[in-house]
Amino acid sequence: MVASEQPLVGDDPQVLLPFLDELSVFLDRQLIYDETGGWPGPQYDHGPRGFRQFIVEQLHGDVDLFLKLRPVIAGEVAVGRNEICLCGSGIKFKRCHGGRLPQSKGELASIR
Ligand SMILES: [Zn+2]
Repeated sequence: MVASEQPLVGDDPQVLLPFLDELSVFLDRQLIYDETGGWPGPQYDHGPRGFRQFIVEQLHGDVDLFLKLRPVIAGEVAVGRNEICLCGSGIKFKRCHGGRLPQSKGELASIR
């Protein structure tokens, strides 16, 4: 959340407008939950398990691909831009999954 990182100054539209944008999304989601009993969009578990679910979804549900890329995502292995991607494509990391993966520092440490 960008707005919460800045002090809220009531007469500064550059601060107030992004805050109101986020607030309107929050209220919109809450209204849908109140009406339907379910949150709009995907739902994830809390903590590392939910982070893993998010990443697997970003990889179009491909769990095998997640397991291949997991060491990179978890920050356990550093792959150079010109090294071959761990996904097995044979393509340089920078042209394959490099820069397109969510980066994690610790969220995946306890999840296999
Ligand atoms: Zn790849």
